[in-house]
Amino acid sequence: MLRVENLSKHFGGTQALKDVNFEVKPKEIIGIIGPNGSGKSTLLHTITGIHKPDKGSIWYEDKNITSIPLEDRARLGIGRTFQNLRLFKRLTVWENMLIPAIQLKKSKKDMEEQASELLNLVNLTHLKNEQAQNLSIGQQRLLEFIRAMMLDSKIVLLDEPTAGFHPNMIQTFIDTLLELNRRGKTFVIIEHNIPAIMEVSTKLIAIAAGEVLMSGNPEEVHSDAKVVEAYLG
Ligand code: ADP
Ligand code: MG
Repeated sequence: MLRVENLSKHFGGTQALKDVNFEVKPKEIIGIIGPNGSGKSTLLHTITGIHKPDKGSIWYEDKNITSIPLEDRARLGIGRTFQNLRLFKRLTVWENMLIPAIQLKKSKKDMEEQASELLNLVNLTHLKNEQAQNLSIGQQRLLEFIRAMMLDSKIVLLDEPTAGFHPNMIQTFIDTLLELNRRGKTFVIIEHNIPAIMEVSTKLIAIAAGEVLMSGNPEEVHSDAKVVEAYLG
């Protein structure tokens, strides 16, 4: 579904990505872990078209998308959320859900049904008329996550979706993600919450200093000596 080949990107003297290769198959949930500054967000920015890679290519459904504009990648079905929340803070939860979807040719009734259903999944229905800025950080992240789902992307890239969560909200996120995956969505998730990512991911990729250290079975990657050292060292 998505394939990244020899992707490299530098900023001045910083090599943020170095020959990164990986593949995402339909309905997989790929977890990406790595220390701060290891290039995880840069990888998502490069896939979604915010950054142009120095080298390498990005393939989506067998189409080379390395040089196509950001909006075209979104239109093809690549969705995302950001590490720094991008909600309309003074608008209501309900307005936040509907506004991004306006660009799609969907009926108002369909959009409203979809928004209601997603809000229900993450237990935010009671806050529907509240300004986004009045929600807790965890609730805002859940809102940003389900708002991204309003665009009907086939693959959704999530950058630290549980950062700032109260521990009792993690399960809501996990349940929602797994439910959306059962309905056919593919996910790539950058995550620092190791127990959470171990629970949901079908494959884990460990990155350090812009390079893939290891990828594969989550248990094996997580317990690998190189990966443990990159985290502790
Ligand atoms: P992570 O998401 O894993 O914490 P990032 O991808 O944000 O890491 O950053 C990787 C490296 O690239 C860091 O050293 C960071 O300072 C640098 N970097 C990221 N974005 C930029 C940018 N726009 N300009 C300059 N340096 C950047
Ligand atoms: Mg980051």
